[in-house]
Amino acid sequence: MDRLLLEIDGLSAAYGDLQVLWDLSLKIREQEIVAFLGANGAGKSTLLRCITGLKSISHGKISMEGRDLSELPPHRRVNEGLVLVPEERGIFPDLSVEDNLRVGGYTVADKEKLASSFEWVYSLFPVLKDRRRQKAGSLSGGEQQMLSIGKGLVSRPKLLLLDELSLGLAPVVVLKLLELIKKIHQEGVTLILVDQNVEKLLSVSHRGYVFENGRIVLEGAAQDLLNDPRTKKAYLGR
Ligand code: ATP
Repeated sequence: MDRLLLEIDGLSAAYGDLQVLWDLSLKIREQEIVAFLGANGAGKSTLLRCITGLKSISHGKISMEGRDLSELPPHRRVNEGLVLVPEERGIFPDLSVEDNLRVGGYTVADKEKLASSFEWVYSLFPVLKDRRRQKAGSLSGGEQQMLSIGKGLVSRPKLLLLDELSLGLAPVVVLKLLELIKKIHQEGVTLILVDQNVEKLLSVSHRGYVFENGRIVLEGAAQDLLNDPRTKKAYLGR
């Protein structure tokens, strides 16, 4: 059995007086691809932000490889191997592709390690190498998404959290990105994926959690979730 990578126990979070996550517990093992499903506003992005330390939690515990992350600010969590590719992609349109990747590697002090990470990212996304001197804002939507993933990979995360991978992208581009996700996984990266495209999301995932109003209401193997009447009715329109 693969080792436990991330463990969340009894997590709650609020925006001011508005509680949006309620007593969540889940486990992610090394080498898994795990899907977070749920309607808009169910709390998925908030949970990703809690995991990476961008949002504080009101109760509970988040541990990575057995280490409690509570006291660690976001950049230290990056050092622990936790990286978020946010829904809004977080790239700087006026900077070149390469400078954007440099921003992604700001926590990596070792120059040789950084150079080899760049080569790794360029081998996964050759188009980024071809366009490395181009402004990020001049890339197509799919290439910008590749850049935001590449920017996340430069620090060599153990666990990559990808929020709304397919947002605003054409279906053919999404299929290409999903192939790249499989490749990134083969390179040893564990992934949490959030996406509205439930069928495609589950097609590349091993397991999934379904969120409703800040609570986990269903969890299981991706194939079981695809066949579950509740998932079918709520998300697959069947
Ligand atoms: P989406 O796919 O729309 O991003 P989600 O499942 O990721 O949905 P969240 O964005 O985490 O859900 O939102 C969960 C709840 O928290 C929603 O009720 C939302 O309105 C609220 N919320 C999110 N961000 C904030 C914020 N910065 N301030 C106040 N409330 C917020």
